[in-house]
Amino acid sequence: MQSNAAVKVVKFGGSSLADAEHFKKVADIIKADPSRRYVVPSAPGKRFGGDSKVTDMLYECYDRVVNNNDYTDILDKIKERYDLIIKGLELNLSLDKEFSAIESILSNRASCDYVASRGEYLNGLILASYLGFSFIDAADVIFFDSDGLLDSEKTNKVMCKKLSHYEYAVIPGFYGSACDGSTKTFSRGGSDITGSIIARAVEADIYENWTDVSGVKMVDPRIVENPKTISVITYSELRELAYMGATVLHEDAIFPVRLTGIPINIKNTNRPDDEGTMIVLQAPDDDVRNEITGIAGKKGFSVINIVKDMMNSEVGFGRKVLSILEKYKISFEHIPSGIDSMGVIVSSALLAESRERVINELSCEIVPDCISIEDNIALVAVVGRGMVESVGIAARIFKAIGEAGINVRMIDQGSTENNIIIGISANDLENTIKAIYYEFDGKENS
Ligand code: ASP
Repeated sequence: MQSNAAVKVVKFGGSSLADAEHFKKVADIIKADPSRRYVVPSAPGKRFGGDSKVTDMLYECYDRVVNNNDYTDILDKIKERYDLIIKGLELNLSLDKEFSAIESILSNRASCDYVASRGEYLNGLILASYLGFSFIDAADVIFFDSDGLLDSEKTNKVMCKKLSHYEYAVIPGFYGSACDGSTKTFSRGGSDITGSIIARAVEADIYENWTDVSGVKMVDPRIVENPKTISVITYSELRELAYMGATVLHEDAIFPVRLTGIPINIKNTNRPDDEGTMIVLQAPDDDVRNEITGIAGKKGFSVINIVKDMMNSEVGFGRKVLSILEKYKISFEHIPSGIDSMGVIVSSALLAESRERVINELSCEIVPDCISIEDNIALVAVVGRGMVESVGIAARIFKAIGEAGINVRMIDQGSTENNIIIGISANDLENTIKAIYYEFDGKENS
């Protein structure tokens, strides 16, 4: 960007753009700060419990086409959703032409990605018209390579050049162009990635990601009622929590902004004055380091237990085990080991297909004294930059778990010392998270 004025990229999720009332809130937020220049909308989300997301309706539409079922009623419902928004905003805008185009492409067997992408595309047209901003089709500025992965460098170059001609613009989230020119989407929730790509291209001062919660919670609110909000979290802490199941941003949304250290601010469209959570490359100098930043956990793991006398002195033992897993495309999560035993923690779903073959090959190749698989393991990650070089935190974590009567199956501390991973029985997942949270939140364990 040539000018020195602040630039903010703002992405609004589906719940923030579900109906006309929310569009008005979004416009108020954007107009309140002239540096909010590049806007990325999702497709309309649910308006109430039991409602449907437009993206889900579009996928349903596509399924019906593929199965030769009538799809017109569902397409009419989608059109109704957009027409209601247009009417509520009193816009002089018609999407008839766009819907005819969608219908004709649908009857000619449109691709699934094309159909799904229309949710963001149409919402972008409405938002651009309501704000009086230019509309830029994401298909012209976001590109995928022949492996279907984001072509970051081409995208950055084209996006940079294109946006330098626009002071204010709306760019729909979630999709771009494949290398054959067809429309291609990211995986679900991918508008977060679009926002991040744009923030990198315009060298934004901040990427604001607006949703319906006031930031990232220390733990899943379905497990602990009303948990604390994290005010500052680093990209790497967030990656640890997201990998373990915390759903805040799309996993891949971190990468483009991380390259240039642009902070992400998670904000609440319904409570715009709340500070939300800042996601940063490095904690600020005056960082208030909480002992723990967050806790997350995930079920669905298995341990392959291998026992063999003198394993520790058998050079190449670990390599043999891992190369068999590699052959079956099973990545490992953790490898806790003793002198004569080794456990390999893997995703149960990844193991399912080749379970018998893996055991047979391991038995032949490494001739163990004993080999078995234990399922129903859950992993809990306790994450925090405040743990680095702090004394006594691990002791408190394990005391809390012990007092809750939970048996620990595995312990692993990352080499960066900002996470401790604990393996437990899947049935103990919720209680483990609660026990640790209440230990550090200072409340009574319940
Ligand atoms: N609309 C898409 C979805 O529901 C993408 C997004 O909202 O980010 O997954």
